[in-house]
Amino acid sequence: MTKKIYNFSAGPAVLPTAVLKKAQNELLSLGGIEMSVMEISHRSKHFEAILSEAINGIRELLSVPENYQILFLQGGASLQFSMVPINFLGKSEAADYIVTGTWGKKAVKEAKRCGSVNTIFSTAEANFKSVPTQDELSFSEKANYVHYTSNETIEGVEFKYDLDGKGIPVICDASSNILSKPFDVGKYALIYAGAQKNIGPSGVTLVIVRDDLIERVPENQHSMLDYRALAENNSMLNTPNTWGIYIINLVCEHLIKHGGLIEMEKKNEEKAKLLYDAIDAGDGFYLGHADRTARSLMNVTFRLPSEELEKQFTIEATARGLDGLKGHRSVGGIRASIYNAFPKEGVEELVEFMKDFAQKNG
Ligand code: PMP
Repeated sequence: MTKKIYNFSAGPAVLPTAVLKKAQNELLSLGGIEMSVMEISHRSKHFEAILSEAINGIRELLSVPENYQILFLQGGASLQFSMVPINFLGKSEAADYIVTGTWGKKAVKEAKRCGSVNTIFSTAEANFKSVPTQDELSFSEKANYVHYTSNETIEGVEFKYDLDGKGIPVICDASSNILSKPFDVGKYALIYAGAQKNIGPSGVTLVIVRDDLIERVPENQHSMLDYRALAENNSMLNTPNTWGIYIINLVCEHLIKHGGLIEMEKKNEEKAKLLYDAIDAGDGFYLGHADRTARSLMNVTFRLPSEELEKQFTIEATARGLDGLKGHRSVGGIRASIYNAFPKEGVEELVEFMKDFAQKNG
């Protein structure tokens, strides 16, 4: 047997083994139809059943109310940085943005092409270590919406609450913590997430959008950028990512079978605690990036005393079967991404390695 590799990649990321095995088993013949899911028409009854099961799976897991549409789009979460303002931010209008990391900053850049952006809260100058409390936020009077990133994947900072827009529609990039815990979807006008962390493979973007927001899509919008047209056509205005949606359906089935998002949150809290405790127990050898109150359950980021040691750390970790720990190229350091499907044993293995490494090099 090959040596077990624990995959700490930030995304595309580890998927449940049971899901990969099921996909492998039916790769050549989906449910006995003697064709692969990749070979059948997206208009076939077989695929339509998969699409509707995937939608129901997301609806059940996140308790999505009936007045929300669930879409599976393409172009990644990055296209949502543009699609949101293209649809909801006119030239002479304004939107509020909260910037707590690199992805939020990228969302602002695209929104500015459409209209006026009020960055009502930014932690950029303090190096993206924290998130605001609800009380620290005040929204602009005429904002069309407020946008924030519920978990910043690169810096490892996470909101611990569902933001209240106080009457302003809330739009959230939840790419890296969707399905990791329950969300109160009713508080949002639109939630989007690239699938490649907790939902499935890359190439599909989940969009959950409230009906009244869809009503605001301008007439004569480009079809592929038009939430209304995409919703009316059940995400099949063109050929969707059929394989991706198929895997999403399997992931949903798997999560429902294993206790849903309450259970996921419990497990994720346990795993993250192990790692943060190891960071805090290192006598200063390891320095967590995020403030304690904003520590992400999904992306645990920390530094070592020098860049040389960080390099050595990732080399030795990789040799021990702990893969993908190098921090994002823009910030350096170490990042352990521990999404839903990441096993607790892998975290324990990393904690052991951290102890050994600090003892040897501290
Ligand atoms: N937002 C967040 C929070 C992300 O983590 C990422 C990708 N890592 C993106 C947006 C961009 O996603 P995509 O590559 O699907 O465009």
